[in-house]
Amino acid sequence: MTVSVERLPLLSASPGTQRAVTVHRFGAPGARPKVYLQAALHANELPGVVLIHHLLPRLEAAAARDEILGEIVVVPVANPIGLGQVVQGKHLGRYEAMHGANFNRGFPAIADLVAPRIDNRLTDDKVRNVALIRAAMREAVAEIAPRSELESLRKTLTSLAVDADIVLDLHCAEESLLFIYLPLARWPECSDLAAQMRCQRVLLWEGHHGRAFDEGISSPWLELAARFKDRPIPMACLGVTLELRGQLDATDALNAADAENLFRYLRRRQAIAGDPGVLPPLLDHGAPATGTDWVRAPVAGVVVHRKAIGDRVRKGEIVAEVIDPVAGDGAARRTPMVARVDGMVIGRDINRLVRPGDPAVVVSGDAALEDPEPNVD
Ligand SMILES: [Zn+2]
Repeated sequence: MTVSVERLPLLSASPGTQRAVTVHRFGAPGARPKVYLQAALHANELPGVVLIHHLLPRLEAAAARDEILGEIVVVPVANPIGLGQVVQGKHLGRYEAMHGANFNRGFPAIADLVAPRIDNRLTDDKVRNVALIRAAMREAVAEIAPRSELESLRKTLTSLAVDADIVLDLHCAEESLLFIYLPLARWPECSDLAAQMRCQRVLLWEGHHGRAFDEGISSPWLELAARFKDRPIPMACLGVTLELRGQLDATDALNAADAENLFRYLRRRQAIAGDPGVLPPLLDHGAPATGTDWVRAPVAGVVVHRKAIGDRVRKGEIVAEVIDPVAGDGAARRTPMVARVDGMVIGRDINRLVRPGDPAVVVSGDAALEDPEPNVD
């Protein structure tokens, strides 16, 4: 049984203060698979924190039974900076206050750091290449010199996760169902996670979305494979963003069941010994992330919804209307918001007051949009 808890201090942002990331470790360092799990990188997204609260006792009990086969690293609160961002009674936590950076973007460009370290050292042996690249990734991240508290947070989280086999980043949307972002390059081999977690929508991504944490950790494998085409390099890290419904869905009932499902997944992937039980059927067979339609308010006003979370919609269908409370003209008092795709309503903004351009409704299209919006916000 190997269990430890440690505090990793961040660069101090002001004299007399210092934040830290708390890390729970299970299993022997270097054991495989290595699974990394974090919650609340967007610090106002708390269902994952409750999930981990329910998962930790399960992991501790498994460790006491000597069932931990791999290495499991758990960060219950990935963003202590954002956790302190309470302004006029409201918890913010999505963007850093200093420059407005999204906390889940801008992670280090690992492939650029690693490529020169492995050039001429790769072989025709896939397993050796993975070990070589992981060692180079650890070294490269260790050498990053953070210039701010935010950069030291990004470095700390990256260093904990960079050599993992599976990285699970727990988020939530505002009002939402349970959905997941998975890399197309690992689909459908990774579908057991979506099935076990009972994900109601599976969004398959490829390419880039601003070096979000999941992409920043897993895409380097694809980038290195593209750079060193004559050498076998698999996508050895599965980076996943799990959207645990809406912000108000931080509950014992929902998140304890999520924790049990995640524990079963860890068993199925042999990170923990024991019977994972029967794999539930997939609830969704995958939609392109580039089919996501952020239905934006065309005018300012108060949004009234026509569709519930989980409803199916058709292209051209009205999903909500914006009421202009001061319009003199009767026709201008209600402005429709229309879906651009056939698909499913997976989320709604929690605010009912909208400004032009606000994405009040999120429709996950069944097919890619011709002009997809980059998910960079
Ligand atoms: Zn988030």
